[in-house]
Amino acid sequence: MKRIGIKGKQGDSVIYVGESIDRLNRYVPSDSTIILTDTRVADLYGHRFPPGPVITMGQGEGVKNLHTVAGIYQQLLDADADRSSYLVGIGGGIVCDITGFVASTYMRGLRCGYVATTLLAQVDASVGGKTGVNYHGYKNIIGAFNQPRFVLCDTGLLKTLPAAEISSGFAEIIKHAAIADADMFAYLEAHVGEALHLDPDVIEKLVHESIKIKAAVVNQDERETGERRKLNFGHTFGHAIEKTTDFSHGQAISVGMRIAAQISVAKNLLAPSQVDRLKKLLGDMNLPVQAPVDTDLVGDALLKDKKRERSHIYFVLLRQIGKAIVKRLSIKEVRTGIELL
Ligand code: NAD
Repeated sequence: MKRIGIKGKQGDSVIYVGESIDRLNRYVPSDSTIILTDTRVADLYGHRFPPGPVITMGQGEGVKNLHTVAGIYQQLLDADADRSSYLVGIGGGIVCDITGFVASTYMRGLRCGYVATTLLAQVDASVGGKTGVNYHGYKNIIGAFNQPRFVLCDTGLLKTLPAAEISSGFAEIIKHAAIADADMFAYLEAHVGEALHLDPDVIEKLVHESIKIKAAVVNQDERETGERRKLNFGHTFGHAIEKTTDFSHGQAISVGMRIAAQISVAKNLLAPSQVDRLKKLLGDMNLPVQAPVDTDLVGDALLKDKKRERSHIYFVLLRQIGKAIVKRLSIKEVRTGIELL
């Protein structure tokens, strides 16, 4: 098992890679733990949860809203939850984001931890303390920074994930390598087959390396005023595509990374051969680099981007594979990417 630490303003988080869900009871008190999960994870792994109350939510982005949060507050009241309660989210990014948000607001803050059960949650959503829900078409617009006390990443749980969810997680792993670690990118290129088949050594190494990259960035800039913006590589167009198509987060980010890399080439920052490498690795990981989009809708969605500041967006570009920079681009400059869709 490997440990990675994150130092947050309001507390620290420790991420345990290779820790089993069966050992969760060692991380939480036996008498005051309340588990939050979704219907699928409850069906698959409920029998491995420690004893105690379980609050189960539905699945998918459609449940990531204040209505679900209000329902959870009510169930916490019904279960007599108080300041001593410890919330544990067991699930993918949606369960983690909702659990963290509920934990930061119910009674002005409860302790919380996560068992991340999707690849995307292990390498991204459970790491870094961003929590929140969607509101009226704005993604993750209502939320709070709240570091979970612990995150368990049991890579054995990934075996039940559909192939598309695994590829979706690899989009974020590729993103981490692309912005910060050329060696990891080369390792991914050389181990595509083992990675997709969840070879235990390969997947544990990739999850660990990926979290190390995100944790290092978050430790420099928890509140996203500088360095953390690099983690948004591919996300400006990615979020717009996610919102306007039926693409999953990972698929949309994959297309977004290709566009951001091509904008980097257009700005004479990146060699075209590097875009080809990126496109090949994404394709090998069964991720798309094109999306069937309505360009007008994408243009509107770009304006709803959280990263927009009036007429500018902090946009992440690549200098080379393994090195990202953030530039403040005008909306007009960003919109040139629409032609590349
Ligand atoms: P998800 O939580 O919807 O999980 C995907 C599906 O997999 C769900 O149907 C779930 O029930 C199922 N599932 C979960 N674990 C499983 C397992 N082990 N076996 C089989 N099925 C399983 O989606 P996700 O991709 O994990 O997360 C996406 C969310 O994460 C988005 O809402 C996104 O905004 C958020 N996110 C947050 C951050 C952050 O920093 N907080 C970062 C990236 C993404």
